Amino acid sequence: MKVEPSQAGRRLAAPRRGALVLWARAIGWKVEASGRLPWLRLCAFPALGLAGLCLLWGVLAWKIELGEQEARRAAIEHSQAVAFAYEQYIGRTVRQMDQMTRFVAFERERRGPNIDVGGLIEALVSPAPPVLVSLADADGMVYASSKPGWQPVSIADRPHFRAIKDHPDATIYIGQTVVGRISKQPSAQVTRRISNPDGSFGGTVIVSMEPRSFTAFYDTDRMGEEGLVGVAGTDGQFRAVREGARYGFGEPLWAAAKTQIAGAFVSSEKQSEDGVERAVAWRRVEGYPLVAVAGLSMAEELADFEKMKRIYERMGALGSLGLLAFSALGLALHVRIEARRRAISQTKEAYRTASEGTSDGFFIFSPILGASGEPEGFKLDDVNERGAQMMAKPRERLIGQTLDELAPPRLGEELLAVYQNVWDSGDTWRDPEIFCAESGAFCQRWISHQAARSGNGVAVTIRDITETKEHDERLQWVAEHDALTQLPNRHGLKPRLDKAIESARERGGKVALLFVDLDAFKMVNDTLGHAAGDRLLQIIGERMQTARGEGWVCRLGGDEFTIVIERDCSREELAETGRRLIASISQPMDLGGSLIRVGASVGAALYPDNARDGDELLKAADLAMYCAKEGGKGVVEIFEAGMAKKIQAKAELERELFAALERDEFFLAYQPKIELSTGVVRGLEALVRWQSPTRGVVPPLQFIELAEQSELILRIGEMVVEKACAQCAQWREEGYAPLPVSVNVSARQLQKGDIAQIIENSLRRHKVPAGQIEIELTESCMMENPDYAQTQLRRLKEIGVRILVDDFGTGYSSLSLLKRLEVDVLKMDRSFIRDLPNDAEGREIVRAIVSMAQALRLEVVAEGIETQEQSDFLRELGCGEGQGFHFGRPERPEALSAILPKL
Ligand code: C2E
Ligand code: MG
Ligand code: MG
Repeated sequence: MKVEPSQAGRRLAAPRRGALVLWARAIGWKVEASGRLPWLRLCAFPALGLAGLCLLWGVLAWKIELGEQEARRAAIEHSQAVAFAYEQYIGRTVRQMDQMTRFVAFERERRGPNIDVGGLIEALVSPAPPVLVSLADADGMVYASSKPGWQPVSIADRPHFRAIKDHPDATIYIGQTVVGRISKQPSAQVTRRISNPDGSFGGTVIVSMEPRSFTAFYDTDRMGEEGLVGVAGTDGQFRAVREGARYGFGEPLWAAAKTQIAGAFVSSEKQSEDGVERAVAWRRVEGYPLVAVAGLSMAEELADFEKMKRIYERMGALGSLGLLAFSALGLALHVRIEARRRAISQTKEAYRTASEGTSDGFFIFSPILGASGEPEGFKLDDVNERGAQMMAKPRERLIGQTLDELAPPRLGEELLAVYQNVWDSGDTWRDPEIFCAESGAFCQRWISHQAARSGNGVAVTIRDITETKEHDERLQWVAEHDALTQLPNRHGLKPRLDKAIESARERGGKVALLFVDLDAFKMVNDTLGHAAGDRLLQIIGERMQTARGEGWVCRLGGDEFTIVIERDCSREELAETGRRLIASISQPMDLGGSLIRVGASVGAALYPDNARDGDELLKAADLAMYCAKEGGKGVVEIFEAGMAKKIQAKAELERELFAALERDEFFLAYQPKIELSTGVVRGLEALVRWQSPTRGVVPPLQFIELAEQSELILRIGEMVVEKACAQCAQWREEGYAPLPVSVNVSARQLQKGDIAQIIENSLRRHKVPAGQIEIELTESCMMENPDYAQTQLRRLKEIGVRILVDDFGTGYSSLSLLKRLEVDVLKMDRSFIRDLPNDAEGREIVRAIVSMAQALRLEVVAEGIETQEQSDFLRELGCGEGQGFHFGRPERPEALSAILPKL
């Protein structure tokens, strides 16, 4: 780390600083980039601890000082009180001794020298006090004493004797303690003058007392073990003293006590004999040149204070420990907090550094805590550049702003609730898609938003998903719309229909659905090509958009369209809308030069009348449309409950037909074709019948149409050819002359099946000559996919199968097509024959057909001849053959044996 020497602030020399900085960093301290250590904060806790210690000990020292002063003052007062009591005591004692001297001196003066001193004392004080009373004559010779066994002795040299003898004015003298010459032990003596009757000096009376008696006042309860009592003369010498357990006399008195009547002071250890510091007080004994001294050991007097002092010191020690602990703890905590703050700051730094590279916006919010400790708001602590870009403001301006300031009101409130929850629970919250173009909070239209608690704050990640979202929207549009017509497709219909139904359910209203299916669209596709088919669908889509009214249009696929009307419609209104649609669709349109017209069948259903949901509604309308187709196309059918039953019945029939095929329940009936001019049978038409175990004999009109709607017709057709060939073979074997037998072939067989191959196989299998089998086709059947039909028919022609046009006159066949397909016979439809010969129009049509057939060299067969008149009329017109109930109904083969010619 490089630190400029010129940098201000508290620095250390480079190498040491490096080590310290390393150490500081190691313990988690934040070291500024400049290498400056946070000394202030580092020293804060120790300094605080030190200040606390100083304060604590200052207060304690002050308290102790006060306590000591108080205790010393109390000790002195106590010693003064003791001195006062002692002074009283000494006063009484000395007065007593003095009285004794007076009494004895008086008696001596009265009675003369021969007196019994002991008896006198006993007479005066009973019991006799522990004093020794002696009498000395004017020369100092002791001549009487209360001490038993005393020996005369001279005291002439003694100071107390001399003091009285040499000073005629002196009456009493309290001398220094000396070893008495009579008592032979230390004695304090009170000496009084005895005067002769003439007033001259007559000797002295001496009352001696053991010095210890003066200190009997000492009471350990009151004065402790190291107290002091003593009585001294104003001459400055102790007559008797007791210091603790030591007794003494003769010690010098303190100078002040010699001059002042009373006083007190603390004597140092050096000032006392036993080296004890004492509070000493003295008082002058009233009436005597004596000073009563009392002293109390300071150690004993201050014992309570010392105890208290120790308590204070202990408290101080404890407090110090506490403060030290507080400092250490504070320091440790601070270090930890610093370490955490540093970690957080590093995390934040790393987070931002890492986040700067990404395309996501990162925001770190910190809570604004209320009185309850819960966040009342959030403040932006940090944001990366991408985040600032999203908010379209510079980072510096964003940082520090509150959520209210950053987000518009409603979004702000929502986010506050979210962040509060994240902050409280610690859970991560995600909203993968938020549309924010309206709120204006971000520059993006769509964002994904994630919030997670991070430390004491909330970390928010915002991703711009506008592009993805728009891409998804585009994909979804493509998935839900038809590319050709741009209309919603089946996938697009479902959600919209469900929504419409949901809203109808809520408001108690209705939804109508019209199902439109184009009629013969396939033919356009097949004949004019797919491009024309596509164009047709586009035109139909546009027409439906125009005719839809309030509804919306979808193309389900193929030629199926729907219109949904989100309104209450009556059945009449629906039928009317359907008809309007059909009319609009059926308008002729120009497709690359060809003028084309397609019809449509419409089924309609209503929610909630016919369905419980969208799927059911679609199915119901589809069913109705199916019925419309069944009902002849180009019509509108509104869903009815019975429709489903009809459809079910058909499904049931279809299922039974399959079973019938399996069980071979079909048989062929044969109807003869008669040559009109001769009445001879010229051929037979094979007509299929179903011998149903439950329904009886079922005619083809009841099942052929249904069979034609599925592959079933192919199997029935094959079965018919097979049976017809087998019958021909049987008749041949039975000896009948070979007659051509025609089989009916439906359009689907011609378009889808391989009818030529089937017939060829059957003929070969039954060894029937090709000329014996003919096929009957309707005109419309030949019109559909004429190229394929032509190929099939050409193959049949090649093997020798003749072609008959059935129900001729009802369809739209062109003469050129008839020629091209090389048909052989025209079978005039029964409808032209029915009203002959009376119906003029019928007559003309029949005549026209016959002459046309003759012109094209085609044979003509009249169908449905029921009367002789019809037969005659047709014969006269030149019609070659006829077929009808007049000649014979379709019969089982065994019933025909009578009319079939034998070989
Ligand atoms: P179609 O081919 O035109 O057959 C003639 C129908 O007219 C027959 O009805 C026949 O019984 C009826 N018919 C004949 N003479 C008279 C008459 O004088 N008066 C009246 N009122 N009717 C007469 P059928 O057998 O019920 O057949 C009806 C239709 O079913 C047939 O009409 C044909 O289109 C179809 N069909 C019958 N068998 C087959 C078959 O094997 N395959 C196919 N694809 N269609 C068949
Ligand atoms: Mg026929
Ligand atoms: Mg016919």
